[in-house]
Amino acid sequence: MTVSRPGRLSTPATAEYWRAAADGTLLIQLCQACGHHQLYPRTLCRTCWSDDLGWVEAAGTGTVWTFTVIEVPGHPAWRAETPYPLAVVELDEGPRLLSGVLRQDAYAVHVGQRVRFVADAAGDPAGPLPYFVPDRP
Ligand SMILES: [Zn+2]
Repeated sequence: MTVSRPGRLSTPATAEYWRAAADGTLLIQLCQACGHHQLYPRTLCRTCWSDDLGWVEAAGTGTVWTFTVIEVPGHPAWRAETPYPLAVVELDEGPRLLSGVLRQDAYAVHVGQRVRFVADAAGDPAGPLPYFVPDRP
């Protein structure tokens, strides 16, 4: 039995982020008033509360800040992928992003590991999502 994955939640604040991610670009918000970078997308800057927010392309590189390995998925659609790592990646620009780490053994992910962004469907028929892979030289 195949179980469909839950849909993505697109709002006016997140639509541009999801569109760019599907095209292989990782965007982060840049506050035009104070220069703060932020992610997830919001309607206000979390530092100065300005609504003058723009988008910039992230370098796409970062460091695993923390992680876990999912052995029992919270939704049955991911049962076939277990075990898989789920990490909080601190982008080089500062914001942190919760995402999967692909293309390595789930138990090899570690805090401090350098990773880079990829847009990968990872089996999702809805298309690419932001993921990370090991950033090996
Ligand atoms: Zn600001």
